[in-house]
Amino acid sequence: MLQRVAVIGAGAAGLCTARHILSRPNSFAPPVVFELTSNVGGTWCYDERIGTYDNGWPIHSSMYRDLRTNLPKEVMMFPDFPFDPQLNSFLPHQEVQRYLEKYCQSHNIRPHIRFSTVVEKVKPFVVTKEDKEKTTTWEVTSSDSSGFQKTETFDSVFVCSGHYSDPHIPDIPGMGNFKGKVLHSHSYRFAEPFSGQSVVVLGAKASGLDISIELAKAGAQVTLSHGRPRLTFPLPSGIQQSSPVVAIEDDGSIRFQDGSMARADVLMFCTGYNFSYPFLDGDQLGLEIQDHMVSPLYRFLVPPAFPSLFFIGICKIICPFPNFDCQVQFALAVLDGSVSLPPQAEMEDEVRRALHEKVECGVQRRHLLIMDQDQWEYCRTLAQTAGFSPLPPVVRSLYEEVWRQRQVHPENYRRINYRLISDTEWESQEKQRMC
Ligand code: FAD
Repeated sequence: MLQRVAVIGAGAAGLCTARHILSRPNSFAPPVVFELTSNVGGTWCYDERIGTYDNGWPIHSSMYRDLRTNLPKEVMMFPDFPFDPQLNSFLPHQEVQRYLEKYCQSHNIRPHIRFSTVVEKVKPFVVTKEDKEKTTTWEVTSSDSSGFQKTETFDSVFVCSGHYSDPHIPDIPGMGNFKGKVLHSHSYRFAEPFSGQSVVVLGAKASGLDISIELAKAGAQVTLSHGRPRLTFPLPSGIQQSSPVVAIEDDGSIRFQDGSMARADVLMFCTGYNFSYPFLDGDQLGLEIQDHMVSPLYRFLVPPAFPSLFFIGICKIICPFPNFDCQVQFALAVLDGSVSLPPQAEMEDEVRRALHEKVECGVQRRHLLIMDQDQWEYCRTLAQTAGFSPLPPVVRSLYEEVWRQRQVHPENYRRINYRLISDTEWESQEKQRMC
């Protein structure tokens, strides 16, 4: 019998899941892809609105109008689907959206997507057979735009709902005293309205830096408040750095960790996002779902107690599309029986041990899902276990080179154009470099 798979979300992860399911017609029925919005692309589908859609659901995309990718297209692409070679390496968001639409079209995914349909509940239904073997099916309840609710049964579920939508706003004592405008980067779209204003940007990771530069260029006076070591690379005039914000005083002024004070028109939180799966009951699934953590997930992918539920793309600081591609192929190999997972207790142990090691090394709990340098070994292991081609080594070299450039030239690193080379060419370049 063909397996029925529900896919939640038609962003990059959901499209990738659908593409690989459709290419295995002997094992899987065509998937049902549930998509809250009326478009594919998820994050990459720019929406000028903020707040909620007409149906009351929160706006999903955190994209801003002038965003250009922070990874070059050569490492962003799905391994089997290059971007248009005519394009520069760093792309405006519209090009990524076009790419995902093309991917969807090439693999004929669209007929399998239920647009404007939100998944409201995913519930396991466990049957214990006479021989004590357990089988789980999944009841997925969704609502379409007319409010019509439906519950269907699937053999497995892929959670591809993204994790850059639910703004994380840290607790700051006295926040209610602030007299100006408060917003999170999730609701930032463009810089012009901030011209001439003083803006305190909290957080200096990718979005904090990018948005500060946009704001300064539009004539805002920006205070970039962060807990990182002082940034030493050149920043545009109009941006000054400060220590983290620790409180808002009764009169609305802002107090920083170093004791200095400032007034501002705007507080802009670029402080990241929470994991949020309102359609899942963590307790029922044996999962701890917190703002910055979902655990235990074997291989950052599957709850040991429910090995037919998969979370695609949950890790941070990765090459997202290539990572999704590896995770999906591994997950499908588990489902079609070509890969066997270890027993539940063993998987739980492995996850516990890995997290414990990270905590022992001083990694904060909120950073436990950051993969960064570990992503290469992770993807290689998934590929080796499930028997698909590993990522070409040039992806890693390019990613690392871009990362270096970004640390030194945050304003200009996107001017460089890269080229993807074959494994053989890469090997000969590496040899030359060694000499
Ligand atoms: P999403 O793109 O978020 O898609 C999730 C989909 O699920 C959405 O379409 C949503 O509508 C749908 N959905 C959610 N809940 C439900 C529900 N209950 N029912 C039905 N549908 C639902 N990555 C890069 O590689 N390069 C970059 O330069 C880059 N820049 C970024 C800039 C910003 C501002 C942000 C926020 C992210 C950036 N990323 C970048 C990361 C980006 O999120 C990933 O590349 C990728 O697009 C994530 O895809 P996804 O499918 O996991 O999630």
